Amino acid sequence: MIDLANPELLRTEAYIGGAWQGSEESYSVQNPASGETIAHVARHGSQSASLAVDAASAALPAWAALGAGDRAQFLRRWHDLIVANTEDLARLMTLEQGKPLAESRGEIAYAASFISWFAEEARRINGTVIPGNSASRRLTVIRQPVGVVAAITPWNFPAAMITRKVGPALAAGCTVVLKPSELTPLSAIALAVLADAAGIAAGVFNIVSGDAPAIGDVLTTDPRVRKFSFTGSTPVGKMLAAKCMGTVKRVSLELGGNAPFIVFDDADIDAAVSGAMASKFRNSGQTCVCANRILVQHGIYDRFAAALASEVAKLSAGDGLADETNQGPLINADAVRKVTAHRDDAVARGARIIARGQVTGPAGGHFARAALLVDVPEDALLAREETFGPLAGLIRFDEEADAIRIANATTAGLAAYVFTNDHDRGVRVSEGLAYGIVGLNTGAVSTEVAPFGGIKESGFGREGSQFGVDDYVSLKLIAAEIKAK
Ligand code: ADP
Repeated sequence: MIDLANPELLRTEAYIGGAWQGSEESYSVQNPASGETIAHVARHGSQSASLAVDAASAALPAWAALGAGDRAQFLRRWHDLIVANTEDLARLMTLEQGKPLAESRGEIAYAASFISWFAEEARRINGTVIPGNSASRRLTVIRQPVGVVAAITPWNFPAAMITRKVGPALAAGCTVVLKPSELTPLSAIALAVLADAAGIAAGVFNIVSGDAPAIGDVLTTDPRVRKFSFTGSTPVGKMLAAKCMGTVKRVSLELGGNAPFIVFDDADIDAAVSGAMASKFRNSGQTCVCANRILVQHGIYDRFAAALASEVAKLSAGDGLADETNQGPLINADAVRKVTAHRDDAVARGARIIARGQVTGPAGGHFARAALLVDVPEDALLAREETFGPLAGLIRFDEEADAIRIANATTAGLAAYVFTNDHDRGVRVSEGLAYGIVGLNTGAVSTEVAPFGGIKESGFGREGSQFGVDDYVSLKLIAAEIKAK
């Protein structure tokens, strides 16, 4: 059923210490476009998680001791293999996650870019020499790998959320145990097949999936794990981060967002519409940087709504493998229910639906019809919670200060967007937004060369960029006392 040019990419076991480990129990992976089971994956639990930590601990000294250039070479080989297998990896991703094939190809390129970026950064993990605080002192600061890293990743970007953690960890000299989402394990396991083929030593990169709470328990409490990196929902992230404090692990969290998308009267309307479409509807609205509240100034409100409506009407949700599909299914039935609940809540509070997309996908798929709502009140559910689906709601505002106030009235702080042709306003508003990322006249903010991450309850730590290695290294001060001759 899963037809790949390189069938070796399709594996269903855990990858521990360089070996493939089956298990007696399995769990099934569904294609969200049809509801059909596409694979049965080995269901592992706490024992396998401990074995993976054993393997990562055993592999750590030799990997950390390699020259940075040698680690870079391994990453470079891994990158090249990912790129060479793009078509198969994209197909696997569409089958288990649902996104249109073109988006899957884009994600594979994006995922690979983190590996090549951190292959380059591996050789630039520089230290510092500080002038001594006395004539006999020499102060040297070096950056060393934190040790064994545990990573837990979500289903919405089944490859890129992994490489943006594993890339910097391996570059820094750390070893990794990864638990991918049980909804999308095949993409993760295929990356491990390619890491193995790239010659990355046994135990440097391990994957265990199955019983998420049991595996999570080991990864957050085993004292040998020195760093925990999580991308996923805010409640799960908070709970796991709290467990990490028992052994005082380094933690980074990429949690939920509630992105405001602000359009001022003086905005370029075409740019704002295409920015809103990119930000709101990429991955069918299932990204943590998706526009969640579209705030539009009163003077441009009707024109912007009409222009956006004609684009929303072109959206067609179907099987991601079909050419005409520009929206995939949502990940599961709960996700579809949430979108419907947010839509109905907004309508009950006085909002109006002014445009709808189509559903062309097969029965049995988890499809949500895209919709655009106007006159959404500030207190609607869709403005307070992440919808994580193809539902766009417009909220009207009057003054610049109102936009900033509404935008910041949330516990989340990941991404925000501003559209204006007034340079001074663009700078003022960007600086006033309580977010880790601001897109100014753009709806696309993610790239491996820039820092990605939030503030407030969206988490901490930055992925990608010159700062991305920081979460995987510790500073060590060597304070030397030198005798005068
Ligand atoms: P979402 O599915 O909304 O992205 P989740 O936080 O549920 O967010 O999932 C993100 C990752 O966290 C997934 O890999 C999931 O398996 C994992 N996860 C969820 N609950 C737990 C838990 N109790 N312990 C460990 N991992 C968990």
